[in-house]
Amino acid sequence: MLPMSSDTPLQKCPRCRYSLTGLPDIHRCPECAFEYDKRMVVIEQSAKLSWFLVGMYSVGALMWTSYLAATSSFGWGSLILTVFWFATFLGARQSIRLRNRSKALLWPDGLILLPAQGDFMYYASWDDVSRVEYDRLGGGAKLLAHDGSTLHAVPYDFFGSGRISKEFIAAANRIREQYLTEEY
Ligand SMILES: [Zn+2]
Repeated sequence: MLPMSSDTPLQKCPRCRYSLTGLPDIHRCPECAFEYDKRMVVIEQSAKLSWFLVGMYSVGALMWTSYLAATSSFGWGSLILTVFWFATFLGARQSIRLRNRSKALLWPDGLILLPAQGDFMYYASWDDVSRVEYDRLGGGAKLLAHDGSTLHAVPYDFFGSGRISKEFIAAANRIREQYLTEEY
């Protein structure tokens, strides 16, 4: 079973969300030059933090509305402020939910970690990874090399949820296994 967070085959560029409709299965994104493979399974960071921020905006908007209702002094200034408030809220919701989320991409060749901030990208081939394990102490994941050493640690914050870390680990091990048995 594929993780629920993924749309396979890939519909949008995992980096910039440009639509990949009509483009070849393995190609460069015309928008950001990211080399995608439509078989990539995307596992995204938890949206918990985004919902917390959106919740704060909502409470703020509710308080503002209550204040206006209580003072009954709704003029043009108040209307402009209210519109401005909702525009800010929608903008924040868009940017937080759609763009600033870390992503892990898994596909037959290996895995890529795309952190929410910055251009840094981590890539590992399945040939270099022997297993992906849950890190009991930190709540994140560990990519293990063939000699048992840690090749790369994925901190808890990357997915922001132990459940998503485990979902990532299960999907990574499954896809790696499929690659090795050449089911692809
Ligand atoms: Zn792109």
